[in-house]
Amino acid sequence: MSAEIDPCSPIGPEQIGEWFEYTDVLIVGYGGAGACAALEAHACGAKVTVLEVSSGSGSTTSLSGGQIYLGGGTPIQTACGFTDTPRDMEAYVRMASGSSGDDEKIRLYCGDSLEHYAWLVNQGVEFNPEYYGGKHTNTPEYQSLAWSGNEKGYRERLVARPAPRAHKPRAFWEDGGATLMATLRKAVEATSITVHHETRALTLVKEGERVIGVLCRHDGQLRAWRARCGVVLCCGGFIMNKDMVRKYAPRLADATPIGNPADTGSGILMGIGAGGAVVNMNEGFISVIWYPSGEFCKGVFVNQQGNRFVNEDCYHSRGAHHCLNQPERKAYLVVDSAIYTEPPMYAAAKVIEVGETFAELERDAGFAEGTLSATMETYNRFAAVGEDPLFHKSPEFLRPLDQPPYALLDFSIDSGVYYPAFTLGGLDTSVDGQVLSASGKAIPGLYAAGRTSAGIPRNAEGYASGLSIGDATYFGRRAGRAAAR
Ligand SMILES: Cc1cc2nc3c(=O)[nH]c(=O)nc-3n(C[C@H](O)[C@H](O)[C@H](O)COP(=O)(O)OP(=O)(O)OC[C@H]3O[C@@H](n4cnc5c(N)ncnc54)[C@H](O)[C@@H]3O)c2cc1C
Repeated sequence: MSAEIDPCSPIGPEQIGEWFEYTDVLIVGYGGAGACAALEAHACGAKVTVLEVSSGSGSTTSLSGGQIYLGGGTPIQTACGFTDTPRDMEAYVRMASGSSGDDEKIRLYCGDSLEHYAWLVNQGVEFNPEYYGGKHTNTPEYQSLAWSGNEKGYRERLVARPAPRAHKPRAFWEDGGATLMATLRKAVEATSITVHHETRALTLVKEGERVIGVLCRHDGQLRAWRARCGVVLCCGGFIMNKDMVRKYAPRLADATPIGNPADTGSGILMGIGAGGAVVNMNEGFISVIWYPSGEFCKGVFVNQQGNRFVNEDCYHSRGAHHCLNQPERKAYLVVDSAIYTEPPMYAAAKVIEVGETFAELERDAGFAEGTLSATMETYNRFAAVGEDPLFHKSPEFLRPLDQPPYALLDFSIDSGVYYPAFTLGGLDTSVDGQVLSASGKAIPGLYAAGRTSAGIPRNAEGYASGLSIGDATYFGRRAGRAAAR
Protein backbone atom coordinates (compact mmCIF):
# COMPACT_ATOMS: atom_id res chain seq x y z
CA MET A 1 0.00 0.00 0.00
CA SER A 2 1.31 3.48 -0.85
CA ALA A 3 2.59 5.69 1.96
CA GLU A 4 0.33 8.50 0.64
CA ILE A 5 -2.99 7.70 2.19
CA ASP A 6 -5.96 9.95 1.58
CA PRO A 7 -8.11 10.36 4.71
CA CYS A 8 -11.10 10.95 2.45
CA SER A 9 -10.75 7.53 0.81
CA PRO A 10 -11.65 4.70 3.16
CA ILE A 11 -10.19 1.33 2.34
CA GLY A 12 -11.78 -2.13 2.33
CA PRO A 13 -10.85 -5.01 4.67
CA GLU A 14 -9.36 -6.85 1.71
CA GLN A 15 -6.62 -4.17 1.64
CA ILE A 16 -5.58 -5.06 5.19
CA GLY A 17 -3.12 -7.93 5.38
CA GLU A 18 -3.73 -8.65 9.02
CA TRP A 19 -5.49 -6.73 11.80
CA PHE A 20 -2.97 -5.47 14.35
CA GLU A 21 -5.49 -5.50 17.20
CA TYR A 22 -9.16 -6.15 17.83
CA THR A 23 -11.25 -4.06 20.20
CA ASP A 24 -14.93 -3.18 20.73
CA VAL A 25 -14.77 0.62 20.72
CA LEU A 26 -11.91 2.38 18.98
CA ILE A 27 -11.40 6.00 19.88
CA VAL A 28 -9.23 8.22 17.74
CA GLY A 29 -7.82 11.19 19.68
CA TYR A 30 -7.06 11.43 23.38
CA GLY A 31 -8.30 14.92 24.26
CA GLY A 32 -11.33 15.92 26.28
CA ALA A 33 -13.85 14.23 23.98
CA GLY A 34 -11.76 11.08 23.48
CA ALA A 35 -11.00 10.55 27.18
CA CYS A 36 -14.67 10.92 28.15
CA ALA A 37 -15.83 8.67 25.30
CA ALA A 38 -13.31 6.03 26.41
CA LEU A 39 -14.38 6.18 30.06
CA GLU A 40 -18.07 5.80 29.25
CA ALA A 41 -17.59 3.04 26.68
CA HIS A 42 -15.49 1.19 29.24
CA ALA A 43 -18.14 1.73 31.93
CA CYS A 44 -20.61 0.07 29.55
CA GLY A 45 -18.44 -3.05 29.57
CA ALA A 46 -16.74 -2.58 26.21
CA LYS A 47 -13.11 -3.31 25.42
CA VAL A 48 -11.77 0.16 24.58
CA THR A 49 -8.69 1.25 22.66
CA VAL A 50 -7.57 4.86 22.22
CA LEU A 51 -5.24 5.92 19.41
CA GLU A 52 -3.38 9.20 19.82
CA VAL A 53 -0.91 10.77 17.43
CA SER A 54 1.10 12.72 20.02
CA SER A 55 3.62 11.12 22.33
CA GLY A 56 2.10 12.67 25.43
CA SER A 57 -0.79 14.92 26.16
CA GLY A 58 -0.94 16.75 22.88
CA SER A 59 -4.56 17.77 23.02
CA THR A 60 -6.01 21.23 22.74
CA THR A 61 -7.98 20.42 25.90
CA SER A 62 -4.64 20.25 27.74
CA LEU A 63 -3.54 23.59 26.32
CA SER A 64 -6.79 25.30 27.14
CA GLY A 65 -7.88 27.38 30.08
CA GLY A 66 -10.05 24.45 31.12
CA GLN A 67 -13.29 26.34 31.68
CA ILE A 68 -16.32 24.07 31.38
CA TYR A 69 -19.76 25.57 30.80
CA LEU A 70 -21.97 24.03 33.49
CA GLY A 71 -25.05 25.32 35.22
CA GLY A 72 -28.57 24.76 36.37
CA GLY A 73 -27.56 25.16 40.02
CA THR A 74 -24.27 23.29 40.41
CA PRO A 75 -22.88 22.91 43.94
CA ILE A 76 -20.23 25.48 43.03
CA GLN A 77 -22.79 28.03 41.85
CA THR A 78 -24.80 27.48 45.02
CA ALA A 79 -21.76 27.67 47.28
CA CYS A 80 -20.81 30.97 45.66
CA GLY A 81 -24.30 32.37 46.23
CA PHE A 82 -25.76 32.15 42.72
CA THR A 83 -29.11 30.78 41.71
CA ASP A 84 -29.41 29.08 38.35
CA THR A 85 -31.89 26.72 36.73
CA PRO A 86 -31.59 24.30 33.78
CA ARG A 87 -34.29 26.38 32.12
CA ASP A 88 -32.34 29.66 32.34
CA MET A 89 -29.21 27.89 31.18
CA GLU A 90 -31.04 26.39 28.22
CA ALA A 91 -32.65 29.70 27.23
CA TYR A 92 -29.24 31.37 27.33
CA VAL A 93 -27.38 28.64 25.44
CA ARG A 94 -30.12 28.52 22.81
CA MET A 95 -29.72 32.24 22.23
CA ALA A 96 -25.92 31.96 22.20
CA SER A 97 -25.99 29.17 19.61
CA GLY A 98 -28.00 31.33 17.23
CA SER A 99 -30.14 30.19 14.34
CA SER A 100 -27.85 27.26 13.49
CA GLY A 101 -27.96 25.79 17.02
CA ASP A 102 -28.96 22.16 17.43
CA ASP A 103 -32.10 22.28 19.59
CA GLU A 104 -31.97 18.71 20.79
CA LYS A 105 -28.30 18.86 21.72
CA ILE A 106 -28.90 22.10 23.63
CA ARG A 107 -31.85 20.61 25.50
CA LEU A 108 -29.87 17.54 26.57
CA TYR A 109 -26.68 19.43 27.37
CA CYS A 110 -28.44 21.89 29.67
CA GLY A 111 -30.89 19.35 31.12
CA ASP A 112 -28.01 17.02 32.03
CA SER A 113 -25.59 19.68 33.20
CA LEU A 114 -25.88 18.78 36.90
CA GLU A 115 -25.39 15.11 36.07
CA HIS A 116 -22.37 15.97 33.92
CA TYR A 117 -20.90 18.05 36.75
CA ALA A 118 -21.35 15.09 39.12
CA TRP A 119 -19.80 12.70 36.59
CA LEU A 120 -16.71 14.92 36.21
CA VAL A 121 -16.37 15.11 39.99
CA ASN A 122 -16.65 11.31 40.11
CA GLN A 123 -13.74 11.05 37.71
CA GLY A 124 -11.70 13.09 40.18
CA VAL A 125 -12.15 16.61 38.78
CA GLU A 126 -12.06 19.07 41.68
CA PHE A 127 -13.80 22.42 41.60
CA ASN A 128 -13.00 25.15 44.08
CA PRO A 129 -16.06 26.96 45.48
CA GLU A 130 -14.58 30.42 44.93
CA TYR A 131 -15.94 33.01 42.56
CA TYR A 132 -14.08 35.59 40.50
CA GLY A 133 -16.24 38.49 39.34
CA GLY A 134 -13.76 40.60 37.39
CA LYS A 135 -13.52 41.18 33.66
CA HIS A 136 -10.93 38.63 32.58
CA THR A 137 -10.39 35.77 30.14
CA ASN A 138 -10.11 33.19 32.93
CA THR A 139 -10.03 33.24 36.71
CA PRO A 140 -6.63 34.71 37.61
CA GLU A 141 -5.90 32.36 40.51
CA TYR A 142 -7.53 29.17 41.82
CA GLN A 143 -11.15 30.32 41.69
CA SER A 144 -13.42 27.92 39.82
CA LEU A 145 -16.47 30.04 39.00
CA ALA A 146 -16.63 33.02 36.64
CA TRP A 147 -18.75 34.76 34.03
CA SER A 148 -17.58 33.64 30.63
CA GLY A 149 -20.06 34.86 28.05
CA ASN A 150 -22.71 37.50 27.48
CA GLU A 151 -25.10 36.31 30.19
CA LYS A 152 -25.45 39.85 31.57
CA GLY A 153 -26.05 41.35 28.12
CA TYR A 154 -29.19 43.37 27.51
CA ARG A 155 -30.82 40.96 25.03
CA GLU A 156 -29.72 37.91 26.98
CA ARG A 157 -31.23 39.20 30.22
CA LEU A 158 -34.58 39.44 28.47
CA VAL A 159 -34.64 35.66 27.95
CA ALA A 160 -32.67 34.18 30.85
CA ARG A 161 -31.75 35.12 34.37
CA PRO A 162 -27.97 35.59 34.28
CA ALA A 163 -25.64 33.31 36.20
CA PRO A 164 -21.89 32.67 35.99
CA ARG A 165 -21.39 29.21 34.47
CA ALA A 166 -17.69 28.82 33.63
CA HIS A 167 -16.35 26.09 35.94
CA LYS A 168 -12.57 25.79 35.92
CA PRO A 169 -11.07 22.77 37.67
CA ARG A 170 -9.10 23.80 40.74
CA ALA A 171 -5.89 25.08 39.12
CA PHE A 172 -3.88 28.27 38.98
CA TRP A 173 -4.75 30.78 36.22
CA GLU A 174 -4.71 29.10 32.78
CA ASP A 175 -3.70 25.64 34.06
CA GLY A 176 -7.31 24.45 34.10
CA GLY A 177 -7.05 22.46 30.87
CA ALA A 178 -3.83 20.68 31.83
CA THR A 179 -5.34 19.84 35.21
CA LEU A 180 -8.57 18.58 33.65
CA MET A 181 -6.71 16.32 31.22
CA ALA A 182 -4.32 15.04 33.89
CA THR A 183 -7.36 14.05 35.95
CA LEU A 184 -9.15 12.37 33.05
CA ARG A 185 -5.98 10.52 32.09
CA LYS A 186 -5.63 9.27 35.65
CA ALA A 187 -9.22 8.01 35.51
CA VAL A 188 -8.45 6.24 32.21
CA GLU A 189 -5.27 4.72 33.65
CA ALA A 190 -7.29 3.24 36.49
CA THR A 191 -9.20 1.12 33.95
CA SER A 192 -8.25 -1.53 31.41
CA ILE A 193 -8.54 0.96 28.53
CA THR A 194 -5.55 0.63 26.19
CA VAL A 195 -3.94 3.84 24.92
CA HIS A 196 -1.51 3.82 22.01
CA HIS A 197 0.48 7.03 21.61
CA GLU A 198 2.42 8.06 18.49
CA THR A 199 -0.32 6.42 16.47
CA ARG A 200 -1.72 8.51 13.65
CA ALA A 201 -5.06 7.47 12.19
CA LEU A 202 -4.79 7.79 8.42
CA THR A 203 -8.09 6.55 7.06
CA LEU A 204 -11.12 4.46 7.95
CA VAL A 205 -11.72 0.85 7.00
CA LYS A 206 -15.20 0.18 5.64
CA GLU A 207 -17.00 -3.04 4.87
CA GLY A 208 -20.02 -2.22 2.76
CA GLU A 209 -21.73 0.69 4.52
CA ARG A 210 -20.19 -0.07 7.91
CA VAL A 211 -17.05 1.45 9.38
CA ILE A 212 -15.13 -1.44 10.94
CA GLY A 213 -11.69 -0.10 11.69
CA VAL A 214 -8.91 2.42 11.24
CA LEU A 215 -5.64 2.28 9.35
CA CYS A 216 -2.81 3.99 11.24
CA ARG A 217 0.84 4.73 11.16
CA HIS A 218 2.27 3.21 14.33
CA ASP A 219 5.93 2.51 15.12
CA GLY A 220 6.76 3.52 11.57
CA GLN A 221 4.45 0.79 10.22
CA LEU A 222 1.01 0.80 8.64
CA ARG A 223 -1.22 -1.06 11.08
CA ALA A 224 -4.95 -1.57 11.22
CA TRP A 225 -7.24 -1.73 14.23
CA ARG A 226 -10.52 -3.57 14.02
CA ALA A 227 -13.48 -2.17 16.00
CA ARG A 228 -16.28 -4.67 16.60
CA CYS A 229 -18.77 -2.03 17.82
CA GLY A 230 -17.74 1.39 16.58
CA VAL A 231 -15.08 3.98 15.82
CA VAL A 232 -15.34 7.34 17.61
CA LEU A 233 -13.50 10.22 15.92
CA CYS A 234 -12.34 12.75 18.54
CA CYS A 235 -9.49 14.36 16.59
CA GLY A 236 -10.22 18.04 17.29
CA GLY A 237 -10.90 20.74 14.69
CA PHE A 238 -9.12 22.03 11.59
CA ILE A 239 -7.64 25.43 12.47
CA MET A 240 -4.10 24.19 11.70
CA ASN A 241 -5.06 23.14 8.18
CA LYS A 242 -4.61 26.29 6.10
CA ASP A 243 -6.26 24.83 3.00
CA MET A 244 -9.34 23.75 4.92
CA VAL A 245 -9.56 27.12 6.68
CA ARG A 246 -9.32 28.95 3.35
CA LYS A 247 -11.93 26.68 1.81
CA TYR A 248 -14.46 26.45 4.65
CA ALA A 249 -13.82 29.31 7.07
CA PRO A 250 -12.01 32.09 5.16
CA ARG A 251 -12.98 34.62 7.79
CA LEU A 252 -10.53 32.92 10.16
CA ALA A 253 -7.68 32.87 7.64
CA ASP A 254 -5.98 36.06 8.87
CA ALA A 255 -6.36 35.19 12.54
CA THR A 256 -3.75 33.41 14.66
CA PRO A 257 -4.61 29.70 14.83
CA ILE A 258 -4.63 28.39 18.39
CA GLY A 259 -4.72 24.74 19.35
CA ASN A 260 -2.49 21.72 19.04
CA PRO A 261 -0.60 20.98 15.80
CA ALA A 262 -2.82 17.96 15.09
CA ASP A 263 -5.88 20.21 14.66
CA THR A 264 -5.60 19.49 10.95
CA GLY A 265 -9.14 18.27 10.38
CA SER A 266 -8.05 14.67 9.85
CA GLY A 267 -11.06 13.33 11.74
CA ILE A 268 -13.43 15.50 9.75
CA LEU A 269 -11.84 14.40 6.48
CA MET A 270 -12.05 10.72 7.47
CA GLY A 271 -15.71 11.24 8.32
CA ILE A 272 -16.36 12.95 5.00
CA GLY A 273 -14.65 10.03 3.26
CA ALA A 274 -17.01 7.61 4.97
CA GLY A 275 -20.04 9.58 3.74
CA GLY A 276 -20.50 12.01 6.63
CA ALA A 277 -21.90 15.49 6.09
CA VAL A 278 -20.32 18.59 7.62
CA VAL A 279 -22.12 21.56 9.13
CA ASN A 280 -21.25 24.99 10.53
CA MET A 281 -17.86 24.80 8.81
CA ASN A 282 -17.63 28.54 8.17
CA GLU A 283 -17.82 29.40 11.88
CA GLY A 284 -15.13 29.67 14.50
CA PHE A 285 -14.28 31.08 17.87
CA ILE A 286 -12.40 34.29 17.22
CA SER A 287 -11.26 36.78 19.77
CA VAL A 288 -9.58 40.09 20.33
CA ILE A 289 -8.92 41.04 23.91
CA TRP A 290 -9.32 44.54 25.31
CA TYR A 291 -9.64 43.43 28.95
CA PRO A 292 -8.39 42.85 31.64
CA SER A 293 -8.69 45.22 33.29
CA GLY A 294 -12.30 46.30 32.94
CA GLU A 295 -11.11 49.88 32.40
CA PHE A 296 -11.11 49.57 28.60
CA CYS A 297 -14.73 48.36 28.75
CA LYS A 298 -15.44 52.00 29.64
CA GLY A 299 -13.94 53.00 26.29
CA VAL A 300 -15.84 53.30 23.02
CA PHE A 301 -15.33 51.11 19.93
CA VAL A 302 -15.78 52.96 16.64
CA ASN A 303 -15.41 51.97 13.02
CA GLN A 304 -13.87 53.97 10.20
CA GLN A 305 -17.05 56.03 9.93
CA GLY A 306 -16.74 57.01 13.57
CA ASN A 307 -19.80 54.95 14.53
CA ARG A 308 -20.15 52.67 17.52
CA PHE A 309 -21.05 49.06 16.79
CA VAL A 310 -21.09 47.01 20.02
CA ASN A 311 -21.43 47.30 23.80
CA GLU A 312 -17.81 47.45 24.94
CA ASP A 313 -18.45 45.29 28.02
CA CYS A 314 -19.38 42.24 25.92
CA TYR A 315 -17.45 38.94 25.86
CA HIS A 316 -14.22 39.22 23.83
CA SER A 317 -15.35 36.82 21.12
CA ARG A 318 -18.47 38.90 20.44
CA GLY A 319 -16.29 41.99 20.29
CA ALA A 320 -13.97 40.34 17.76
CA HIS A 321 -16.94 39.21 15.67
CA HIS A 322 -18.20 42.80 15.43
CA CYS A 323 -14.75 44.31 14.86
CA LEU A 324 -14.33 41.98 11.87
CA ASN A 325 -17.76 42.93 10.53
CA GLN A 326 -16.88 46.62 10.18
CA PRO A 327 -16.04 48.15 6.80
CA GLU A 328 -12.54 47.10 5.77
CA ARG A 329 -12.34 45.31 9.15
CA LYS A 330 -11.20 48.58 10.80
CA ALA A 331 -11.99 48.99 14.49
CA TYR A 332 -10.66 51.46 17.06
CA LEU A 333 -11.12 51.99 20.77
CA VAL A 334 -11.45 55.55 22.06
CA VAL A 335 -10.17 56.07 25.61
CA ASP A 336 -9.49 59.08 27.81
CA SER A 337 -6.65 59.63 30.23
CA ALA A 338 -8.78 58.50 33.19
CA ILE A 339 -9.13 54.95 31.87
CA TYR A 340 -5.95 54.58 29.86
CA THR A 341 -3.66 51.80 31.05
CA GLU A 342 -1.13 49.69 29.17
CA PRO A 343 -3.13 47.69 26.61
CA PRO A 344 -3.73 44.11 27.77
CA MET A 345 -0.72 41.91 27.11
CA TYR A 346 -2.68 39.57 24.85
CA ALA A 347 -3.81 42.20 22.42
CA ALA A 348 -0.95 44.71 22.42
CA ALA A 349 -3.09 47.20 20.50
CA LYS A 350 -1.16 50.30 19.52
CA VAL A 351 -2.12 53.91 20.21
CA ILE A 352 -2.33 55.45 16.76
CA GLU A 353 -3.47 58.97 17.63
CA VAL A 354 -3.78 61.27 20.62
CA GLY A 355 -5.77 64.52 20.80
CA GLU A 356 -6.83 67.14 23.32
CA THR A 357 -10.37 67.14 21.87
CA PHE A 358 -12.44 64.61 19.96
CA ALA A 359 -12.43 66.99 16.98
CA GLU A 360 -8.64 66.95 16.99
CA LEU A 361 -8.52 63.16 17.37
CA GLU A 362 -11.02 62.79 14.52
CA ARG A 363 -9.12 65.13 12.21
CA ASP A 364 -5.63 63.79 12.94
CA ALA A 365 -6.73 60.16 12.59
CA GLY A 366 -8.39 60.89 9.24
CA PHE A 367 -12.08 60.46 10.17
CA ALA A 368 -14.61 62.57 8.26
CA GLU A 369 -15.43 65.81 10.07
CA GLY A 370 -18.23 65.55 12.63
CA THR A 371 -18.32 61.76 12.75
CA LEU A 372 -16.32 60.46 15.70
CA SER A 373 -16.90 63.70 17.60
CA ALA A 374 -20.69 63.38 17.17
CA THR A 375 -20.56 59.78 18.36
CA MET A 376 -18.62 60.81 21.45
CA GLU A 377 -20.94 63.72 22.18
CA THR A 378 -23.96 61.38 22.14
CA TYR A 379 -22.17 58.69 24.12
CA ASN A 380 -21.02 61.13 26.82
CA ARG A 381 -24.40 62.81 27.12
CA PHE A 382 -26.14 59.51 27.90
CA ALA A 383 -23.27 58.04 29.91
CA ALA A 384 -23.48 61.06 32.23
CA VAL A 385 -26.94 59.85 33.29
CA GLY A 386 -25.94 56.14 33.32
CA GLU A 387 -27.63 55.22 30.05
CA ASP A 388 -26.61 53.66 26.76
CA PRO A 389 -29.75 53.63 24.62
CA LEU A 390 -27.90 52.34 21.54
CA PHE A 391 -25.99 49.32 22.87
CA HIS A 392 -27.11 48.99 26.50
CA LYS A 393 -23.67 48.78 28.05
CA SER A 394 -23.99 47.98 31.72
CA PRO A 395 -23.96 51.04 34.05
CA GLU A 396 -20.92 49.47 35.74
CA PHE A 397 -18.84 50.46 32.70
CA LEU A 398 -20.61 53.67 31.74
CA ARG A 399 -18.97 56.99 32.41
CA PRO A 400 -18.38 59.95 30.14
CA LEU A 401 -14.97 60.03 28.48
CA ASP A 402 -14.12 63.61 29.40
CA GLN A 403 -10.54 63.58 30.67
CA PRO A 404 -8.19 64.66 27.88
CA PRO A 405 -5.99 63.79 26.22
CA TYR A 406 -7.96 61.19 24.27
CA ALA A 407 -6.33 58.29 22.49
CA LEU A 408 -7.30 55.95 19.69
CA LEU A 409 -6.15 52.33 19.93
CA ASP A 410 -6.09 50.25 16.78
CA PHE A 411 -7.96 46.94 17.07
CA SER A 412 -8.13 46.31 13.29
CA ILE A 413 -7.01 42.81 12.37
CA ASP A 414 -4.48 44.17 9.86
CA SER A 415 -2.78 46.25 12.57
CA GLY A 416 -1.06 43.15 13.91
CA VAL A 417 -3.24 42.99 16.98
CA TYR A 418 -3.72 39.41 18.24
CA TYR A 419 -6.86 37.68 16.93
CA PRO A 420 -6.72 34.04 18.09
CA ALA A 421 -9.13 31.55 16.48
CA PHE A 422 -10.22 27.92 16.36
CA THR A 423 -12.92 26.22 14.35
CA LEU A 424 -16.48 25.36 15.37
CA GLY A 425 -17.62 23.33 12.37
CA GLY A 426 -17.40 19.61 11.83
CA LEU A 427 -19.20 16.39 11.15
CA ASP A 428 -22.94 16.44 11.51
CA THR A 429 -23.81 14.12 14.37
CA SER A 430 -26.86 12.89 16.22
CA VAL A 431 -27.12 13.59 19.95
CA ASP A 432 -25.41 10.22 20.44
CA GLY A 433 -22.51 11.10 18.21
CA GLN A 434 -23.55 9.00 15.23
CA VAL A 435 -22.06 10.58 12.12
CA LEU A 436 -24.86 11.53 9.74
CA SER A 437 -24.87 11.60 5.96
CA ALA A 438 -26.26 14.56 4.00
CA SER A 439 -29.65 12.83 4.01
CA GLY A 440 -29.51 12.50 7.81
CA LYS A 441 -28.85 8.73 7.85
CA ALA A 442 -26.46 7.41 10.49
CA ILE A 443 -23.31 5.83 9.07
CA PRO A 444 -23.10 2.42 10.76
CA GLY A 445 -20.15 2.06 13.09
CA LEU A 446 -19.05 5.72 12.95
CA TYR A 447 -19.27 8.30 15.75
CA ALA A 448 -17.67 11.68 16.37
CA ALA A 449 -17.43 14.16 19.23
CA GLY A 450 -15.63 17.34 20.27
CA ARG A 451 -14.44 19.74 17.60
CA THR A 452 -14.44 16.97 15.01
CA SER A 453 -18.21 17.46 15.16
CA ALA A 454 -20.45 20.51 15.21
CA GLY A 455 -21.78 20.71 18.73
CA ILE A 456 -23.15 23.34 21.08
CA PRO A 457 -20.86 26.30 20.30
CA ARG A 458 -21.83 27.57 16.87
CA ASN A 459 -20.40 31.04 16.40
CA ALA A 460 -18.09 33.72 17.76
CA GLU A 461 -20.89 36.16 18.47
CA GLY A 462 -22.56 33.90 21.01
CA TYR A 463 -19.53 31.97 22.24
CA ALA A 464 -18.97 31.63 25.99
CA SER A 465 -15.77 30.13 27.39
CA GLY A 466 -16.47 26.60 28.53
CA LEU A 467 -18.93 25.72 25.78
CA SER A 468 -16.32 23.85 23.77
CA ILE A 469 -14.94 21.66 26.54
CA GLY A 470 -18.42 21.30 28.02
CA ASP A 471 -19.68 20.04 24.68
CA ALA A 472 -16.62 17.84 23.99
CA THR A 473 -16.77 16.11 27.37
CA TYR A 474 -20.57 15.70 27.51
CA PHE A 475 -21.11 14.54 23.91
CA GLY A 476 -17.89 12.52 24.07
CA ARG A 477 -19.53 10.56 26.87
CA ARG A 478 -22.72 10.05 24.86
CA ALA A 479 -20.76 8.90 21.80
CA GLY A 480 -18.74 6.45 23.90
CA ARG A 481 -21.90 4.96 25.40
CA ALA A 482 -23.66 4.71 22.04
CA ALA A 483 -20.66 3.08 20.37
CA ALA A 484 -20.45 0.49 23.15
CA ARG A 485 -24.10 -0.45 22.87
C1 LIG B 1 -5.44 28.44 24.34
C2 LIG B 1 -6.82 27.82 24.33
C3 LIG B 1 -7.65 28.03 25.40
C4 LIG B 1 -8.93 27.46 25.40
N1 LIG B 1 -9.71 27.60 26.50
C5 LIG B 1 -10.92 27.00 26.53
C6 LIG B 1 -11.70 27.01 27.71
O1 LIG B 1 -11.29 27.51 28.76
N2 LIG B 1 -12.92 26.41 27.66
C7 LIG B 1 -13.40 25.81 26.53
O2 LIG B 1 -14.52 25.30 26.54
N3 LIG B 1 -12.66 25.76 25.42
C8 LIG B 1 -11.42 26.30 25.40
N4 LIG B 1 -10.65 26.18 24.28
C9 LIG B 1 -11.14 25.33 23.19
C10 LIG B 1 -11.09 23.88 23.63
O3 LIG B 1 -9.88 23.64 24.34
C11 LIG B 1 -11.18 22.89 22.47
O4 LIG B 1 -12.13 23.29 21.53
C12 LIG B 1 -11.54 21.50 23.01
O5 LIG B 1 -10.67 21.18 24.09
C13 LIG B 1 -11.47 20.46 21.92
O6 LIG B 1 -11.54 19.16 22.50
P1 LIG B 1 -11.42 17.89 21.56
O7 LIG B 1 -11.47 16.71 22.45
O8 LIG B 1 -12.38 18.00 20.45
O9 LIG B 1 -9.98 18.03 20.88
P2 LIG B 1 -8.53 17.86 21.53
O10 LIG B 1 -8.54 18.11 22.99
O11 LIG B 1 -7.59 18.65 20.70
O12 LIG B 1 -8.20 16.32 21.30
C14 LIG B 1 -7.98 15.82 20.00
C15 LIG B 1 -6.84 14.81 20.06
O13 LIG B 1 -6.81 14.09 18.83
C16 LIG B 1 -5.47 13.88 18.45
N5 LIG B 1 -5.47 13.63 17.00
C17 LIG B 1 -5.78 14.49 16.01
N6 LIG B 1 -5.71 13.88 14.81
C18 LIG B 1 -5.37 12.59 15.05
C19 LIG B 1 -5.16 11.45 14.22
N7 LIG B 1 -5.31 11.51 12.88
N8 LIG B 1 -4.81 10.28 14.79
C20 LIG B 1 -4.66 10.17 16.15
N9 LIG B 1 -4.85 11.24 16.99
C21 LIG B 1 -5.21 12.42 16.45
C22 LIG B 1 -4.77 15.17 18.88
O14 LIG B 1 -3.38 14.98 19.03
C23 LIG B 1 -5.48 15.46 20.20
O15 LIG B 1 -4.79 14.89 21.30
C24 LIG B 1 -9.38 26.72 24.27
C25 LIG B 1 -8.53 26.53 23.18
C26 LIG B 1 -7.25 27.05 23.21
C27 LIG B 1 -6.34 26.78 22.07
